[in-house]
Amino acid sequence: MQPLGKNINGYFGETIDIDAVLNDCTAAARSHGWIVEAISETPKLLAFLHPASRGIQERARIYISAGIHGDEPAGPLAVRQLLEEDQWPSDASLWVLPCLNPTGFAVNRRENANGIDLNRQYLEPKAQETVAHINWLKRQPAFDLCLCLHEDWEAHGFYVYELNPEGQPSLAEKIVARAAEVCPIDPSELIEGRPAQNGIIRPSVDPRSRPQWPESFFLLTHKTRLSYTLEAPSDFLLSVRVAALVAAVRGAFDREA
Ligand SMILES: [Zn+2]
Repeated sequence: MQPLGKNINGYFGETIDIDAVLNDCTAAARSHGWIVEAISETPKLLAFLHPASRGIQERARIYISAGIHGDEPAGPLAVRQLLEEDQWPSDASLWVLPCLNPTGFAVNRRENANGIDLNRQYLEPKAQETVAHINWLKRQPAFDLCLCLHEDWEAHGFYVYELNPEGQPSLAEKIVARAAEVCPIDPSELIEGRPAQNGIIRPSVDPRSRPQWPESFFLLTHKTRLSYTLEAPSDFLLSVRVAALVAAVRGAFDREA
């Protein structure tokens, strides 16, 4: 499988009708008994919640978010597919945010409609989306696992960032193995300036040392001790990137494998 070679210095691939995708997500969530919650009205941000299956003890709380960058359509599409297929670990409770930046998708741009990169807002939030998201997060319990779905137009294949400061059993290899079934893995030894191995980046970062927090730093500091940022390569077909993210999420569920 070869890259398309058209995403040079930016994303020039397919775009999506984010409102239609979110309507599909809501319909799928409702039809499978999820709770649908509006985190914010303008812009409209949605959260879907599902408790562990009835009669089964909750063993994990899993958080999944997508669409914080408006030129990364594979994330919301992957969430739509996951909601429509409705195959989740029965002992997990789930919190799913299908799109954190709907105004960015309307203009096919990383930032929101006001030009703010929302994934740099999480230490000193000013954007309405981030303020609403953080206020909502503060009302939720801690999560055992957080997955943030992204794309990278510079990537040569799929890769993942792991934030795992306590050295819990890593899910990174399982995530990459599943993604590799449908998408090339980025073989680079340096990705985004960080050492990488087989598509896995394990940055030793202290969030307090960084002024502009991505969502994952807020999650790591306040809500979880295990976080993965999944990066699909934008220079491949959209269907491949969606399949990679869906497979990667499923790989993270392979806890017993
Ligand atoms: Zn991104």
